[in-house]
This record gives sequence, structure tokens and C-alpha cells, in this order.
Amino acid sequence: MYLQGHIGVSALILHFLEKKGIKIIFPVALFSSMLPDFIDKPLEFLFLLPGRFVGHMILTWLIVVMLGKGIATRMNRPDVFIYSYSLALGAMLHIIEDFRDPILLRTVFWPLFGWSLPSQNGRFDFLLGLKDPYYAVLEGIGLALVFLVGIDRGWEKEEFIKLGGILVAYWILYLSFYAIFIGIQIN
Ligand SMILES: [Zn+2]
Repeated sequence: MYLQGHIGVSALILHFLEKKGIKIIFPVALFSSMLPDFIDKPLEFLFLLPGRFVGHMILTWLIVVMLGKGIATRMNRPDVFIYSYSLALGAMLHIIEDFRDPILLRTVFWPLFGWSLPSQNGRFDFLLGLKDPYYAVLEGIGLALVFLVGIDRGWEKEEFIKLGGILVAYWILYLSFYAIFIGIQIN
């Protein structure tokens, strides 16, 4: 699943959780639902690391929450704690949405199942995957979902523009990586 798929499904779940009375900072959690890939994919392309790395580990987000809790208590800033668990919640949704193969549990629960991480099938699977119509459809559905949630939340024009900005930035980044590592093929 790519950015728009993640952001769409996560928007729906976060919106639901908030309606159930769970206090989160919605934009932070929504943005964080893309963070695991924002962190790990560039590391993969540039440094040959596994495609799911620190951003896809529960440990990382536990540390974020603990740091947030620590700062909140020491500096009497309860908002920092809410920020930190909103970040962790978004990332956790991403990790759950990514799940399709039990082998990924090694990464998600690292280091419970051993120190080594499962190796990636292909270093550029993430970049090449977009050619798969299945993913293209998911991306369309994701975009539609986040727009519907935005409308239900009564988003103003500025909020939609901000979302559009993030999506444009992502696609520029994605296509740049694509151009560098896969090459632009003109037939
Ligand atoms: Zn991911």
C-alpha cells in the first residue's frame, strides 16, 4: 500500500476513534500514517537496508511515546504526550495496514524473534509496485476516502490545500527516486 492507500484507510479509522472519544491530534496522526515509509524507503534505496526497518518497528514508536511522556511530565507539557502518542498511533495503523506476511512480524516486534531482519525480495519493489493495477486502484480509493473524511470533518479549503501539498511533495519525491533508480524509459 502506498501513501494514499495508507492515508485514506488511516483517516477513516482515526476519524472513527476520535468520534469514540479518543483524544488525538488528527493531522499529526494522519501524517504519521505515512511516516514508516517516509523513514524506511529512502534508507532502503540509498543504503540497501531492508524496506521495512526502524519506522516499521513497534519498539521505535514505544520509544517515541516514552520520550513524549517523559518530556510531558518533566516540563509539565501534557500536549507533548498527546503529540507523541498521536505519532505512534498513526505509525501503528500504517504497520497494521502493511501486514500481509507473517515474516513481517520479525520486523514489527524486533528484536523479540531474533536480531536479524527478513531480507527484502527486491530492493525496488516499492518503486516498481505502482505499475500494478491493484495498487493503482487502492491509491484511488485511498484518495477518495481521505476526501470523504475531510468533508465529514468540515475541513476548510486550507486543510484540503495542505493535504494536497503533502501529496504533491510525496509524488515528487517518489518520482524522483523512480527516475534515479529505475530510470525514465521513453518508448
Ligand atoms: Zn510501509
